[in-house]
Amino acid sequence: MENRIKNARPHMTRNEGLIFERSSPGKSGAELPPLDVPAVPLEEALGDEFLRAEVEGFPEVSEVDVIRHFTRLSTWNYSIDAGLYPLGSCTMKYNPRLNEAVARLEGPATDHPYTPESLAQGCLKILGETARCLVEITGMDAVSLQPAAGAQGELTGLLMIRAYLEDQGRNRKYIIVPDSAHGTNPASVTIAGYETRNLKSNARGCVDLEQLDHAMTEEAAGLMLTNPNTLGVFETEIEKVCQVVHARGGLVYMDGANMNALVGVARPGEFGVDVMHLNLHKTFSTPHGGGGPGSGPAAVKRILEPYLPAPIVEPAADGGWRLNHDRPRSIGRVRAWYGNFGMAVRALAYILAYGPSGLRQATEDAVLNANYVRRRLSDLYELPYEAPSMHECVFSDRRQATRGVHTGDIAKRLIDYGFHPYTVSFPLIVAGAMMIEPTETAGKAELDAFIDALRSIAQEVEEDPEFVLKAPHTTRVSRLDEAAAARKPVLRWKP
Ligand SMILES: *Cc1c(COP(=O)(O)O)cnc(C)c1O
Repeated sequence: MENRIKNARPHMTRNEGLIFERSSPGKSGAELPPLDVPAVPLEEALGDEFLRAEVEGFPEVSEVDVIRHFTRLSTWNYSIDAGLYPLGSCTMKYNPRLNEAVARLEGPATDHPYTPESLAQGCLKILGETARCLVEITGMDAVSLQPAAGAQGELTGLLMIRAYLEDQGRNRKYIIVPDSAHGTNPASVTIAGYETRNLKSNARGCVDLEQLDHAMTEEAAGLMLTNPNTLGVFETEIEKVCQVVHARGGLVYMDGANMNALVGVARPGEFGVDVMHLNLHKTFSTPHGGGGPGSGPAAVKRILEPYLPAPIVEPAADGGWRLNHDRPRSIGRVRAWYGNFGMAVRALAYILAYGPSGLRQATEDAVLNANYVRRRLSDLYELPYEAPSMHECVFSDRRQATRGVHTGDIAKRLIDYGFHPYTVSFPLIVAGAMMIEPTETAGKAELDAFIDALRSIAQEVEEDPEFVLKAPHTTRVSRLDEAAAARKPVLRWKP
């Protein structure tokens, strides 16, 4: 029986061969009409210099071969449309189809960026309204939609801090970054021309006010803080933190990529933040990962408004909208045109479809889901920090590590249970971190299935750690050499 299955023709299995292996000489996917002009040899038509010998050996396959091959491969992809995607810090929430329908309308989808202002009023209004909503949600005073990702929003914000402080004659050297920060934070600090001064978190995983007091000298341009931080913990002392920084002439940057825990509930502008970014591709449900371009709007308080990237979309005297390029203190452009426009369209569709109470409920459900997971797993997996979770929870593999099984092994075994893994080994301040962010778009049944999977794996670790160490068992290939794949990727097939 087993043999018969082995010898069966590969169909909807994980044994799909390469397209080259399906090649059969003379097959073709296209049929052209008979030639009605004299044939010209390729060398003559192109010239020898454009003919490369090494590109010979293309697969010869029929149209149906190609369609089926790639369709089968596509079923190997795990996606947000397939199931829970609990990748902590990434806010992999479902992307509502309404957003997509709106983004594909004629106008938003088809207008050229060079369209004159008078003919692009609809698109300008979308940009203006998106910025207005983000101002309302963050409690800040102005927003630029230009940055194309969270990390670029960070750089934009830091460059504005720098420009402002230098205008005030305050030439400072470093930015304070807590050890719980996202990895992009110190990278952005360096690119903005500052040094990073690391700040050790306290036992709750939050900013230690005494340490901050030491670090916030006349040389510090300010603090770059993620709130809730990468442990999923809210900085309860945030107002005092901002006061300390401001009292020494510094500014507070808030990494707002975790706003899925705050929208409709708390506004960073009200607790002292001077500049922040948002991730539309996380909090506001526009696709990301392999699914689409990002958008990391930068929001600022009034004092930084003159430094925002130009142009700014603003209301015109005639009641319409205009692009203001006349901004002498702007840090300049950070992105071509006005940012990833389609992301603004999707985010605005999301904001308007939910409305204020819907946005608040999404936040509350995201926090509820994370706390549910945390509660139901905390008897089997160790919780390194006791503070209540916001939108995500972080376990440590400490108990499983005593059996030789680590966070990466548990994540691989989750694949066998049909789930995308959580975030492995991040944040760095937790040894063996397992970072889980279910988001509000996971229903209870799905959350329970995920929790059951992790509970079952904890049991397997007790009974048969070797089995878990060899996971995944259900994929075409099991353990890859991840370091070699990252450092020496082989991207081209050779015979
Ligand atoms: C995702 C994330 C970022 C970076 O955003 P990108 O769009 O990937 O550049 C920065 N900070 C935090 C806390 C994040 O979760």
